[in-house]
Amino acid sequence: MTIFEKIILKEIPSHIVYEDDLVIAFLDISQATKGHTLVVPKTAYKDIFEIPDNILSHLIVVAKKLAKAIDKAFAPKGINLLNNNKEAAGQTVFHFHIHIIPRYSSNDVSFAFTNNMNNLSSNDYKERASAICAAL
Ligand code: 5GP
Repeated sequence: MTIFEKIILKEIPSHIVYEDDLVIAFLDISQATKGHTLVVPKTAYKDIFEIPDNILSHLIVVAKKLAKAIDKAFAPKGINLLNNNKEAAGQTVFHFHIHIIPRYSSNDVSFAFTNNMNNLSSNDYKERASAICAAL
């Protein structure tokens, strides 16, 4: 059982900001920024590869509602939605969740992409796009 299941079962305390039959949302214990919130399905699916489409659809609608509420409550300058899948991608709790991370400045959270714009040939892009399309 992950820590999120214990939160869902109210076995351990959390600061819940939203709850319905399918979804719960609570403050991340490690507030990356003020209002950092996790949106979590009540059933334990490990990651994006396991969560059913209908639950994911509901989750993203709840995330939108919460993003609006966080925007209204704290007036951040921006908001990131983030979902980590598997350890290499930074997942530490193996129960699917979406982070809502309000941003108050461009450097309050470090999650930067390297700019690789000039490192690839047009053939590289074509091959990568073809591989994805072939796998759909
Ligand atoms: P991940 O790294 O899997 O994308 O995110 C897991 C998140 O869960 C982390 O941001 C971490 O701070 C949060 N977290 C871990 N344990 C607890 C806990 O006991 N309570 C709450 N509210 N959040 C937790």
